[in-house]
Amino acid sequence: MKTGIITTDTYLNHNTGQGHPERADRVTVVINHLKKIKSKKLIWKKPKKFDLKYLEYAHDKNYLNNITDSFPKHGLNFLDGDTIVSPGSKEATKDAVGSILTAIDGVMKKDFRNAFCAVRPPGHHAEKKKAMGFCVYNNVAVGAYYLLEKYNLSKVAIIDFDVHHGNGTQDIFYNNEKVLYISSHQYPYYPGSGAANEKGIKDNVLNIPLISGTKSHEFLNAYDSIFSKLKEFKPEFILLSAGFDAHKDDPLAQINLESKDYYILTQRIMKLAKELCDEKIVSILEGGYDLNALKESIDYHIKSLSE
Ligand SMILES: [Zn+2]
Repeated sequence: MKTGIITTDTYLNHNTGQGHPERADRVTVVINHLKKIKSKKLIWKKPKKFDLKYLEYAHDKNYLNNITDSFPKHGLNFLDGDTIVSPGSKEATKDAVGSILTAIDGVMKKDFRNAFCAVRPPGHHAEKKKAMGFCVYNNVAVGAYYLLEKYNLSKVAIIDFDVHHGNGTQDIFYNNEKVLYISSHQYPYYPGSGAANEKGIKDNVLNIPLISGTKSHEFLNAYDSIFSKLKEFKPEFILLSAGFDAHKDDPLAQINLESKDYYILTQRIMKLAKELCDEKIVSILEGGYDLNALKESIDYHIKSLSE
């Protein structure tokens, strides 16, 4: 079975302003590269439109109304110091959410084995009531609720290997024992949360803080405790908040992964998913701001997903 690549071109119209690190080129280099390699193991799909009620599981209704009103007719609107929306963001933000739901449907219907969503804006900093850190809707959180509500699953795990802590995802699921949220991240660092003692009300959050300068083997060793926690939890589905900004060349953080480490990491997650949840994995792009590092790292990530 193949790997689904879920993407569409509406991300091009999510304009964050000149010089912003979360820019359209990030997704363009990835898509161009994946098209160029012409792998027969990939199936390309566009995100479908979806019932907006799924946004309401992850976000407060007033917040959603405010966001709907925030998309400007012209120019840019700042939701916070670094979270910016433009006219085209309305469609791009919906398609980012739609991509993970389309990916989940495809995996559940066995149209493909697993999937990667090449989309922007990212989502893991968006809290129940707050846009933050380039994120508007929490894509992965809506995906997890979709699995719980549409497919009646009772155990979903989210592994967030973006270099920043996914404060938004943690906020949304802190009290929800059906979702295990696991994050490895540089700490102390933006956004400030993610200490090891933040464990969720039902011990359903596992934070692995890593100091600035952490090297490949230290990062990968840290995943041993993540994998034991996952085995204990026995998820029925694994979602990946796939940020590639722990790469040594990334300008936004100071963790020193090599591109090929994303192959090793993904392979280890795949092995576990085979054991635990019939290989059901959907991965969605979060951060990653050096274009070449991002392209190489995602190439390795997808190589492993499609093996
Ligand atoms: Zn990040």
